[in-house]
Amino acid sequence: APADYQPSATLLEGRTILVTGAGDGIGRAASLAYAAHGATVILLGRTESKLDALYDQIEAAGYPKPAIVPMDLLTVSEEQCMQLVAQLADEFGHIDGLLHNASVLGERRPIESATYAAWQEVMQVNVNATFLLTRHLLPLLQAAPSASIVFTSSGVGRTGRAFWGAYAVSKFATEGLMEVLAAELDETSNIRVNCINPGATNTAMRRSAYPAEHPDTNPAPEDIMGAYLYLMGKDSGEISGSSFDAQP
Ligand code: NDP
Repeated sequence: APADYQPSATLLEGRTILVTGAGDGIGRAASLAYAAHGATVILLGRTESKLDALYDQIEAAGYPKPAIVPMDLLTVSEEQCMQLVAQLADEFGHIDGLLHNASVLGERRPIESATYAAWQEVMQVNVNATFLLTRHLLPLLQAAPSASIVFTSSGVGRTGRAFWGAYAVSKFATEGLMEVLAAELDETSNIRVNCINPGATNTAMRRSAYPAEHPDTNPAPEDIMGAYLYLMGKDSGEISGSSFDAQP
């Protein structure tokens, strides 16, 4: 099972992997884990100070030199995506992995009193920006010998739950985007596409969703990296179109 996967130290050697929301939480842990297993990581996020600190940490550890892409997914334009693609084509030629990790939680309230502004914000960051980046990065992924796209789902992206509003709907949409893309990128494609549901994990998002819960109840992001490494590397072989749980 991917949750207890034991990767080889060189699993991602020579691979270039873009991670969104790389500056904090699960994205930060995934970026470090990918770099520790030999990948050149492209750190995309909105708070540059966090990306800079992570860059320094990766460099100090002696892992491959990463790259930083400051980008706010709330306002990202098609033009910005095309600039990013041109920059990455120039610097790397192709990318071997794409982890869609950035998301916002939005409001926790019934649909009956949900605000349209908060609804749109969640759908923009969690769904529209994910589509836009995927759509524009596909040629760079197609140029890789073998590539993996991983989307981030949630338990509320598989079964609706009261008061989870746009966030839950955005995660259903994420599962849908993954399935549609997987069906289009069939076994003749060099690209695999899957979802990970990280499960309850001790991050800022979890702490804000469950303020009364003791943070230590849940594992740290670095403790759930098995599935993240498994789906990015060659050991997941031809697996595509599936949704995995990072925790048993
Ligand atoms: P965090 O809130 O800790 O981190 C989210 C990251 O996304 C941050 O780095 C944040 O940037 C970035 N981000 C948010 N909005 C934008 C934006 N507009 N543009 C660019 N980057 C942005 O969340 P988690 O690490 O907990 O969540 C990671 C993923 O896992 C999400 O998709 C979440 O839905 C999912 N998930 C998490 C669970 C959990 O228990 N933690 C459970 C189920 C799913 P910044 O640092 O600048 O705020």
